[in-house]
Amino acid sequence: MISDAYLRTLEAAQFVMPGSYGRGIPVWQDAGLRAARRLVAAFESALGQWWTPRIVEHPFLMPAAEYKEVFDDYTNVYETTVPEAGGPCVLAPDNMPTSVGLLRKQGDDEPLVAVGGLLRVLPGGAQPLFRDRHIWPAVQVTHLVSEENALAELERHRLAVTRLHEMLCLPVMTVRTGSLASYGRTTYLTVSCLPDGRPTVTATLYVMSGRYRDRLLSDSEVIDVGFTGKLLALVALHHRDAFGLVLPSVLADTQVGLLVEEEDRRGQEWRTAQTQDGIRVRAMHSAPRPYARRRAERRLLRQGVPLVVGVRGEALRIARRYPLRRDDLPVLPESRTLHGELAAHDDRLRRMSADRFSAGLRETGRLVARCDSCAGTNGEEIFGWAVPETEAPCDACGAPGSEVLLGGRFY
Ligand SMILES: [Zn+2]
Repeated sequence: MISDAYLRTLEAAQFVMPGSYGRGIPVWQDAGLRAARRLVAAFESALGQWWTPRIVEHPFLMPAAEYKEVFDDYTNVYETTVPEAGGPCVLAPDNMPTSVGLLRKQGDDEPLVAVGGLLRVLPGGAQPLFRDRHIWPAVQVTHLVSEENALAELERHRLAVTRLHEMLCLPVMTVRTGSLASYGRTTYLTVSCLPDGRPTVTATLYVMSGRYRDRLLSDSEVIDVGFTGKLLALVALHHRDAFGLVLPSVLADTQVGLLVEEEDRRGQEWRTAQTQDGIRVRAMHSAPRPYARRRAERRLLRQGVPLVVGVRGEALRIARRYPLRRDDLPVLPESRTLHGELAAHDDRLRRMSADRFSAGLRETGRLVARCDSCAGTNGEEIFGWAVPETEAPCDACGAPGSEVLLGGRFY
């Protein structure tokens, strides 16, 4: 189990409402919807290094027959009869059949990114954003590639997903696993960790198996990459202080909060200049009384704002997070300084979570080196092999080997 503290943090930041529509259906609020959009935009920018990805949202209903031609043995979708849609339909199912159909029709060799919700039958309990009936946001990339380029293209997708974790200030490693061979001809899983160091899978990357390629009627290899709002939950799990959520700058709607009693022309001009230089600043007006200022500041901090600049007469202060520290400022900072402050903020977040990752994986003996003959012996369960392959002497016998992540229960 995972403690619900991350959920309280996300509720206080008004990402989700306390409670839900029912088991496994979290209710998102404006701040959460905006953060999800920023998450998708960050991923789009990571993909943009190599491709011009197209973002789509597929219809909620899909003819059941079409779906079952691909996923005949899956019983985890909801089905209903819709006369207007010509018969039985599945509700918000996997995007791959529709995405492959679209790409084939248009002869498109760029990645298609389907964003939206997935509905899944949920046996057992829910863990909001980790295990839900309505999985949102669900981001699923479909990419048709030639056979000879498949692994090189998968590697680029791996780098894009890794880059996304870096922007979110979450630690990550990739492993190759053979355990889902009927689904993926090559399967990569990205693994991050919970704050206590337990590993958790954050994204799946497949070159689909021949069986699915045939069912999808594709002459090309099909790459499928997926992740969900679980990444936002992980951000909340790792990055919070006594005041609440601490957002990495890429997700923060307000990167710099400006606390003023009364904004003069100088303040307005300063804000305009920051906006032009790509910094998201929001002014908060507060009564001069100290408790009113503190309350306004606390509200910004609770929402995850990385930096707060306070103006009081001629005196200036900056509050940095994680942990909170207030310092005097000589003048209102230039945008170059603020960009540096935000980069330093992200670095602090990255360092803290990276420490937990190495403590959790390396120091507890989950990430070890094995040679081919020692791997998987003595009842040891291998979760996957590190990608890219990381050569190291086998921890068991000293022969040349490479790094593996050992199995066990993952969330
Ligand atoms: Zn060995």
